[in-house]
Amino acid sequence: MSTRLHSVTKSFGDLHALQNINLEVKEGEFVAIVGPSGCGKSTLLRLLAGFDRPTHGEITIGETMAANASEALPPEKRSIGMVFQSFALWPHMRVQEQIMFPLQHRSSKKMSKNDKQKRVEEVLSLTGMTAFADRMPHQLSGGQKQRVALARAIVASPSLLLMDEPLSSLDAELRSAMRQEIQRIHKHSGATIVYVTHDQEEALAMADRIVVMQNGQIEQAGTPRGIYYYPATAFAATFVSKAN
Ligand code: ADP
Ligand code: MG
Repeated sequence: MSTRLHSVTKSFGDLHALQNINLEVKEGEFVAIVGPSGCGKSTLLRLLAGFDRPTHGEITIGETMAANASEALPPEKRSIGMVFQSFALWPHMRVQEQIMFPLQHRSSKKMSKNDKQKRVEEVLSLTGMTAFADRMPHQLSGGQKQRVALARAIVASPSLLLMDEPLSSLDAELRSAMRQEIQRIHKHSGATIVYVTHDQEEALAMADRIVVMQNGQIEQAGTPRGIYYYPATAFAATFVSKAN
């Protein structure tokens, strides 16, 4: 199922965070959203997650209307996983409890307790966190917290994985390892990924398609190669191309 934004505008008073966005994200696609701070990347992700409604236009998931100005399907009714920039781990929960949480509170009610435990172990292993299952968040490094956030986002096998600058607080070495991890998870799960970053290198290395945003609008969308070699505007060139 593809996820589509149809002429979506999001305004906060007279500030237009998103202006007339048309975008289709195909099933299984890895789309990177890039652009400078304040261009509307997080707002776009929040609308896709269902945390907020567009001011104009609508969002559809497959044939289903997911949001317009007057109504929105709430996040828990969508098959989404989200990784926030700040990781947003619950301070009072052990690693394995954090990861179990979505299985207890989403559409996984039919899974047996045993199957849930197995799934948590599988995801712990996939993210290299098995040895840290009993730790509390304050006992983890930034990179480990990142892995827990990722594990929690994918445990319920969401069909749409939304990530908001998930690697921005990591050092270069760890960032590169986590990039590979995310790509592996993408291949493994077949999930659609919308990945927000302000790092052009990350977008070029990971995405099937890059969407360059500026001032709440889409400046250009295309394959990494296409945008890198044939930027449509001076802005896209300074943001993504080899001229940079
Ligand atoms: P980015 O993630 O690309 O840095 P954001 O989507 O967070 O940008 O923000 C886009 C614009 O919308 C910014 O000017 C920001 O200040 C504004 N904005 C975002 N959320 C709100 C809000 N809840 N209320 C008012 N303004 C907001
Ligand atoms: Mg942001």
